[in-house]
Amino acid sequence: MPPILILGSGPAGAATAIGLHRLGHPVAVISEWRRFAAVEGVSQRVLDGLRHAGLNHAMACTAPPSQRRVNWNGSESAQNVEFILDRPLFDQGLRQDLHDAGIQVLEDRVLGVESDATGHHIRLESGQHLHTPFLVEARGRQAPLNQKAGKARRGPETLSLLSRWQGARGPVASAVQSLVDGWAWMARLADGRCYWQLTLDVASSALPPKEQLLDYCRERRQRSELSQAFFGGQPEQDLELHARSSTPILCLEACGENWIRVGDAAMAVDPLSGNGIFQSLSSALQAPAVINTLLRAPQRAELAKRFHQRRVEQLFLRFARVGRDFYAEERQWAEQPFWQARRAWPDTVPSHAPADFEALRIERAPVLRDGLVDEAEVVVSPDQPLGIWHLQGLELAPWLRRLRSEPQAQVLAALPEQQRRIFQGWLLSQGYRPR
Ligand code: FAD
Repeated sequence: MPPILILGSGPAGAATAIGLHRLGHPVAVISEWRRFAAVEGVSQRVLDGLRHAGLNHAMACTAPPSQRRVNWNGSESAQNVEFILDRPLFDQGLRQDLHDAGIQVLEDRVLGVESDATGHHIRLESGQHLHTPFLVEARGRQAPLNQKAGKARRGPETLSLLSRWQGARGPVASAVQSLVDGWAWMARLADGRCYWQLTLDVASSALPPKEQLLDYCRERRQRSELSQAFFGGQPEQDLELHARSSTPILCLEACGENWIRVGDAAMAVDPLSGNGIFQSLSSALQAPAVINTLLRAPQRAELAKRFHQRRVEQLFLRFARVGRDFYAEERQWAEQPFWQARRAWPDTVPSHAPADFEALRIERAPVLRDGLVDEAEVVVSPDQPLGIWHLQGLELAPWLRRLRSEPQAQVLAALPEQQRRIFQGWLLSQGYRPR
């Protein structure tokens, strides 16, 4: 086995594997296939992220863009464009990308991982036992949280019930609708496969026993005018139901000296607004440089761990706050437990801090340089607490420092024209007013 083993071949595991491979690290992936067929909706920036990560087959599996109807707070809009992704096809695309990159994928189920000073011992369903000095945990929400990284921050406990059936052929479409006790997302593929996903609060919803959930969801669907109109009241053939947790979870220790958690294993977000794959790719795209540092520049291990942890936390919190604001926009049932819990979590910090030039600070912080985590001066703002190092190739901190001690015209004159424009644009966006 190569010295780095990745558990899980979802978008996070696959992106980390290809990133490590590009940095010259031999890697292997162990994964089983997902046990249920779902569809998910992604935005254009996910497609860009997949391309950037070298996951071209996976990217090509998405359906053409379709309009997403949004019925929220009693009003209807159709401004969002969504790309519907058939997860089994997408997962096959990810495997194909790994294969094309020459990365070995072992199809097996991980039964247990035990870690000691020499590394990690992995027990597989096939009976094999493997040992690896470095482990990447990318098993998504199934990754156990019981080892060193046992600590986690959880949002309101949430359950998603996905109904799936075969309907009539028609155009690809999706819609989202708020309900008194949660929200529903629905999608239809061109071949007539239909999906309706009900997301509820675990603490307050009075659900029937497991064997009655399928009928319960059908009955709720029939009561919804929007879903009746969306699916056209066609017969539902081969109806199936799959329940899964969708509680937001942030792992408070996502990286050690010889292991790292990426994707949903590091932070799993609320499925609202379909941002999960984007978030999982974001944490996975930074991971190869973090691992590279831990292995090739171990003297910077603390810096690398801090870099990964802070980014994972910031991504998670920023998204959680945006989600909170979206939940708060639904005011028809503001006092219902589902909505009450979600418009108060994770905190009251604004999702975007207003620009304030006087609040900008220059700090030393971890950055990525040449495939390694390094330290550099960055500009920290209330809205960018991790700091900005470069803006389109322009290193910000030295120019901000000069601006604070030299006449503005002199500083701007010292910059080549294109960089001057970038710097001026950024200054204005930070609330700077020329004197
Ligand atoms: P995963 O994609 O979960 O991949 C983990 C891999 O590990 C899988 O291949 C799995 O089979 C494998 N694995 C797990 N356990 C084992 C084991 N023991 N042994 C071997 N292999 C194992 N995101 C969106 O962008 N849009 C959406 O519309 C959307 N809807 C969602 C709806 C719900 C209800 C939920 C819960 C999530 C949704 N997401 C959505 C989030 C999205 O599914 C995840 O964020 C994303 O798949 C995470 O990628 P990952 O690579 O971290 O994990």
